[in-house]
Amino acid sequence: MVRFLADSNVGRLARWLRAYGYDAAYAPHVDDRRLIARALAEGRVLLTRDAGLMQRRVVTHGTVRAVLLASDRVADQLRQVVAELGLAGDRRLTRCLECNVELEPRPKAEVSDRLPPHVRLTQTRFSECPLCARVYWPGTHWERMSERLAAL
Ligand SMILES: [Zn+2]
Repeated sequence: MVRFLADSNVGRLARWLRAYGYDAAYAPHVDDRRLIARALAEGRVLLTRDAGLMQRRVVTHGTVRAVLLASDRVADQLRQVVAELGLAGDRRLTRCLECNVELEPRPKAEVSDRLPPHVRLTQTRFSECPLCARVYWPGTHWERMSERLAAL
């Protein structure tokens, strides 16, 4: 499965790609050289708004694949990446939006004490991030994202 590395100017896109089910790392404070080195070492596709980055030899030679995002709007950026790389949306909402790792399913009893009362009453499916221990359920963090992802 294709993995991504988002340049400092497209951090929001990384979160949306995670919501879409893809491994999307975000590198906010590194220079171009280190950004490219990481993409190469980890086999990630670079996502950037920086046309200069696209002129780097490793990119023009195809050693590192990069996508130059045409829009400043995150919804348009996501649409472009999904179209250009032919991403499937069947793994949506399986990854922590903050940590970029896969969530693990949890029985309600295990997370019950961390849920708001109305969630405890109305929801049945839960998952937890193994890194940050954030609990996810359908219709919270993901509600708005989910609707917009479905529209793709
Ligand atoms: Zn997490």
